[in-house]
Amino acid sequence: MVTLRNVTKTFDTTRAVDDVSLGITEGETTVLIGPSGCGKSTLLRLIIGLIQPDAGTVAVDGSPLADSDMRALRHRMGYVIQEGGLFPHLSARENVALLPRHLGWSTQRIEERIRTLVDLVQLPAERLSVHPPQLSGGQRQRVSLMRALMLDPPLLLLDEPLGALDPLIRADLQTDLRRIFQTLNKTVVLVTHNLHEAAYFGDQIVLLRAGRVAQHAPFRALLDDPASRFVFDFVQAQRSLASALDT
Ligand code: ADP
Repeated sequence: MVTLRNVTKTFDTTRAVDDVSLGITEGETTVLIGPSGCGKSTLLRLIIGLIQPDAGTVAVDGSPLADSDMRALRHRMGYVIQEGGLFPHLSARENVALLPRHLGWSTQRIEERIRTLVDLVQLPAERLSVHPPQLSGGQRQRVSLMRALMLDPPLLLLDEPLGALDPLIRADLQTDLRRIFQTLNKTVVLVTHNLHEAAYFGDQIVLLRAGRVAQHAPFRALLDDPASRFVFDFVQAQRSLASALDT
């Protein structure tokens, strides 16, 4: 579905993504994980075409992004960021309706799609008339997800979508998100720095270190067959943190 070939991206002197080659399989959830600053968000922004690589290619469904009609391609991708990225001066309904309205959808078609999605993301329908600052963090992320799903894109990209939420709300939304991914059978790329979240969502885990892929494998393989000392240490550090929190 998405193929990165020898992709490099440098900001000033920082090589955020360093010669990454990676395949994202259709219908699977791929989780990008790694320490802060290892290039997770940059990789996601390269996939959605918000930034261009200095070298290498990103291809979606076989067509290199550079050659594609970016606008048409963006409509095939839903994007959710940590704080939701909603326009604060528009109501939740206006936020989710913005793009389909721009594309000329009828009001009836927009309303039908909204009805389907409030059910899917479990948002009380009356919250749609509220502006984002008045929504709870969890509701904001549910609205962002609705907005990302309005055009029913085959690819969903989520950058730390649960990162800003309280633990209980986070757990609720985690459960709902996984159900939604499974129900819709989308190709999902999700960024997190939390290994448990990665294990919970990921069919495939891509562990990054300083802009490079340290290991790309199912979660179990990271535990049982770490590709390097770094992978082993990263997994153990997060596991001991979790068990310390459990005690
Ligand atoms: P992560 O998402 O893993 O925390 P990022 O992809 O955000 O990491 O960043 C990777 C590296 O690139 C970091 O060192 C970050 O400071 C740098 N970086 C990212 N975006 C920019 C930018 N727009 N300008 C300058 N440096 C950037």
